[in-house]
Amino acid sequence: MVIEPADICWRNGLPFSQRFNDIYFSLDNGLAETEYVFLEGNQLAERFASLSAGDNFTIAETGFGTGLNILAAWRLWEKTAPKTAWLHIISVEKHPLTHEDLSRALALWPELAAYAQTLLAQYPPLTAGWHRLVFDEARISLTLILGDANELLPEAEAQVDAWFLDGFAPDRNPELWQLSLLTHVARLSKAQATLATFSAAGAVRRHLEALGFAVYKQKGFGRKREMIRACYVSPSQPAQDSWQSLPSIPHQHRKHVAIIGAGIAGVSCAYALAIRGWQVTIIDQAAGAHTAASGNPAAIIYPKLAPPALSTWHFQQQAYLWLLNRLQQTPHLATDAWQQTGLLWLLAGNQQREGEKLKQHPWPASLVQAVNAQQASHIAGLDMDTDCLYFPQAGYLNPHALSQAWLNHPNIRTIWHCKVTELKREGEDWQIYDEQAHCRATSPVVIVANALAAEQLSVCSGLTLTPVRGQIATFSPTTPALSALKTVLCYGGYLTPAVKQQHCIGASFWPNNANTEVTQDDHQHNYALLAKVLPKTAHALPPMTIWQGRAALRAQTNDYLPLVGALADYDDFMHRFAGLKDGKKILQAPKYHTGLYVSLGHGSKGFCYAPLAAEIIAAQLNNEPLPVARRVLQALFAHRFWVKHIKRQRHHDQK
Ligand code: SAM
Repeated sequence: MVIEPADICWRNGLPFSQRFNDIYFSLDNGLAETEYVFLEGNQLAERFASLSAGDNFTIAETGFGTGLNILAAWRLWEKTAPKTAWLHIISVEKHPLTHEDLSRALALWPELAAYAQTLLAQYPPLTAGWHRLVFDEARISLTLILGDANELLPEAEAQVDAWFLDGFAPDRNPELWQLSLLTHVARLSKAQATLATFSAAGAVRRHLEALGFAVYKQKGFGRKREMIRACYVSPSQPAQDSWQSLPSIPHQHRKHVAIIGAGIAGVSCAYALAIRGWQVTIIDQAAGAHTAASGNPAAIIYPKLAPPALSTWHFQQQAYLWLLNRLQQTPHLATDAWQQTGLLWLLAGNQQREGEKLKQHPWPASLVQAVNAQQASHIAGLDMDTDCLYFPQAGYLNPHALSQAWLNHPNIRTIWHCKVTELKREGEDWQIYDEQAHCRATSPVVIVANALAAEQLSVCSGLTLTPVRGQIATFSPTTPALSALKTVLCYGGYLTPAVKQQHCIGASFWPNNANTEVTQDDHQHNYALLAKVLPKTAHALPPMTIWQGRAALRAQTNDYLPLVGALADYDDFMHRFAGLKDGKKILQAPKYHTGLYVSLGHGSKGFCYAPLAAEIIAAQLNNEPLPVARRVLQALFAHRFWVKHIKRQRHHDQK
C-alpha cells in the first residue's frame, strides 16, 4: 500500500487527526493517560523489574501515532528493568506522522526529550513495510511496520508479552478493532500475555473473549468511565504446518555460535550476535576477513526500490535502509569506511526500467529522486547527458574498514587458515572439522556463510549456487577531469569518486565462469560499459596499463535472492514433500537441522543484503520479533528451490 502520512491539524497545540476526526491522546494529560492505561494496565513496572539477565520482553502496539506510548514504556524500562535484559517493541501504523509533525508532537513532553531525539534520529522514510530501529546499543529494538495493520499484522512474527491496543475510538476507526485483526493479536501472544486499551467497547470485549482472553473492565483514565485489561489464558490452536512453516527455535541456553566464512555474510552475523552477548567464533580458510568476493576495495551501496504492495522486493529495499541504520549505529567506524557520496543511476539501456517504477509511485525524496541531466551534472560534478535516479544516502563502503569495526568486538574470536570440510552434530554440539580431519571448534549453533564453498559440506547438500565471475579495477592518481566527480555513477557498471586519489571501476558479471584471473578482456568490458553512456568521462580515464585489477567469484542463486535462516534436512525434505509433485497438500513442517543456519547466495549485493540477513538470523536465535515480514523470510528459505525442483518433476512426468 502507498503510505499516506497522517493529516494532522494542531488544536490548542495538540495533534488532531482530520482523517479520523479524533485526538491522539487525552487533552488532559496524554503522558499520564499512557502511564495509567498502557503501562499500569499491563503492570509493566513490576514485570520489567522481575526480569533476569538475558530475558526478552516484547511489547506490541496497534497505532504508533506520535510514539508517546512507546517512549513512555522505554523510559519505564530504563528505570525498572535490569540492564542485562532486552526490550523489543513492534508497532503498526497506517498513517505515520511526518518527521516534522512527529518532532512537534514529541516536543510536548520535555521529560521524554532524550528518547524523542533518539527516535527522531532514526525515524525511517515513510515507505510501506518493516523498519527495524535499534536503541541503547541494541538493547532495545523497535520494529515499526508501516501500512494497514489488517494487511501487515498477519505477516508479523513475534512472541508478545504485552499489547497496547491504541487505535482511534472503535466507532471512528473500526478497522483497527475487528475480529480478523484481533485474531492475529491472539496468534502473536504468548500464554499469559496481557493487553490494555483505553476502550471499553462491548464488541472489542466480546472479540477478545472469543479469542481466549480473560477480559477485565476497570476505571478509565480521568473522566473516562471504563477501560479494558485482558490476559491471554486459553491459547488457540497453532496454524497448520506446511513446507512454509517457520522453524520453531528453542531458547538457546549456551549462547555460542561458530560462523564458517569471514566474508560480509559471516562478518555481519558475527557482529549481530556479538552485540547480543553471544560468544562468536568466526572461521575462514584465508588469513583474514574479506579475501573473496567481498574483498573488493569499494562495495557500492544503493537500494532496489520496492513497490508499496508487500512482496519479496521489500527485502532488498529494507536491507539497504537497515545497512544505513547499522552504519549510523556502529561505534568506532573509521572515517574512510563509509563514503556517503550519493549515487546517480543513469536511466539508459536496461537501467531505464528502474525509472519506470518511480512513475508509478512517489518514493520519499530521502530515498530516491528523479533528476534531469542538468541536475545530475550538478550533483555529479561532471557533464551528464542522461536523466538519472539520485539516491542521496547511497555511496560506497570500504569492506576492510567495516569488518575491522565489526570484528573488533570483544565477544568475537577468529580462526584463520582453517578450511572447514565437515560439520557433524554430536549430542548438543556441532563439531567443526578441517581438511586434516581435526576438530577445530565445537558449538551448539553454526552459521554457514562461506559462499560457494558451502556446497562442499555434506550438511548443505541440496544447495545450488552459481559462481559469477566479477572483475573490478582501481587506478590512481585521479585525473584533472575525473577529480571533479562527487558521487558514484551506476550505468550497468560503476565508477566511484576518488578517495585518496584512487577511483574504482567495475564490475563484470559472468555467470558460470569460475576463472579468477584478471583479464584484459574484462578491463575492456568495464571501460566499454562507461564509454557507451559517458564517452567523455571514459576518455578521461588513465590507460588500462596502470589499472590494478581484481577478479573474484560471487555466489548467486537463480532468483537473485539469498538463502537465509535455518537449514532444512535435504533428504528428509525431498522425501517428506515428494507429494507436492502431484499437487498434494502436505500438512507437515520441514525437519530443520538443529542449530544450523545459512547466509549464502548474496551475489553481487552482499554488502547490502548480508546485514539484514544477519539480523534475521540473530532475531530467530534470540526469539525476538522477526525484522521482516513472514512472506519475505519465506522467500529466503533455502528449501524454496527444492520445492521448485519437486514441482518441476511433475511437468517432466506429464511430458
Ligand atoms: N499510540 C499512539 C501514540 O502513542 O501517540 C496514538 C495512536 S492514535 C490514537 C491511533 C493510531 O492508529 C493513528 O496513528 C492511526 O493512524 C493509526 N491507525 C488507524 N487505523 C489503522 C490501521 N488500519 N492500521 C494501522 N494503524 C492505524
